[in-house]
Amino acid sequence: MASDGDRDFMTLAVTEARKSLHKDARPHPNVGVVITRNGDMIGCAAHGERHDGEDPHCDHAEFIALQKKLPNDTLQGCTVYTTLEPCTKRNLPKLPCVDRLIDRHVDRVVIGMLDPNQIITGKGLMKLRKANIAVDLFPPDLMAQLEELNRDFMREHGVSDSAPVPCHGTKYDVPDRERFWNDLLESAQDEFILVGNSNKSWLRRDENQSRTLGEAIARIVNRGGRVVIISGKQKKTVTRTNAFIAKYVVKHLSADSRADLEGDAPRFIYAQAARVNYSAVLSDDRLLIMPRLNSPEFTAEAMVLELRRSLHATQFRHYKDDINRVIWHSAASRD
Ligand SMILES: [Zn+2]
Repeated sequence: MASDGDRDFMTLAVTEARKSLHKDARPHPNVGVVITRNGDMIGCAAHGERHDGEDPHCDHAEFIALQKKLPNDTLQGCTVYTTLEPCTKRNLPKLPCVDRLIDRHVDRVVIGMLDPNQIITGKGLMKLRKANIAVDLFPPDLMAQLEELNRDFMREHGVSDSAPVPCHGTKYDVPDRERFWNDLLESAQDEFILVGNSNKSWLRRDENQSRTLGEAIARIVNRGGRVVIISGKQKKTVTRTNAFIAKYVVKHLSADSRADLEGDAPRFIYAQAARVNYSAVLSDDRLLIMPRLNSPEFTAEAMVLELRRSLHATQFRHYKDDINRVIWHSAASRD
């Protein structure tokens, strides 16, 4: 079992993982490795790390730590903390990391998260076990950090139930508005619903924030998600909403997404609703909601935007249903 003494090294491995470098923009895993002997760290590495001024070759963290940094050390008896399950398959002549760990006779491997690539999932762990290497896992809180850090990589491999992105602040107390919007948008990978009335809390006069919000909305649409913007029917509101969409959203859409605006099931929808119950509502598959202050829907809980999976799930579902009704109603009454 992992002990208290392990936690410092696990945390260090997570810190290493955050330094990962990648050769292109496709989703790659962020991986960190820490190697210890008798409770002392003797080496560490991040995925894609440069070594001795070499060009980044974007190699695996275990390879860099074992082969580049500690090629001549005796690793027999060592513990290796790796944030991702060691790989079991690489293109020849590269050796899978699991085989390198076995070849070096390490004593124990502590794994942060299983590899979401189903060619590998569980196999790295089992191969280590078969080689009589002790295997432990990181505790759930560190595992959640790693799942969040690797959410794009997990999604690439069909694992979308990643840890939610924390949202900093609430509508009524936002220390950094730009960060706040970015967090919300980042949590909305598939679906983003923005509802506003005359309060216009999401239509800031602030140029920077409007730009950030617009670009982020375009990002979701461009990668296949759906964005719905619902605003009230007041003339001024409609004008301002349309201006926002034209200036900050549409021009950032890819040609495909722009063509899609007129399609049967457009991924970017602007609907007007006669009555909008929320001054600002943001929602995605993880359910993030802000009802209007003092409206019948308002409850203190709903103001909590630090998003956790366990947080009042039933209550959020209720709001989600309510919003879906607004969307349905709006879409049906579109001019
Ligand atoms: Zn590997």
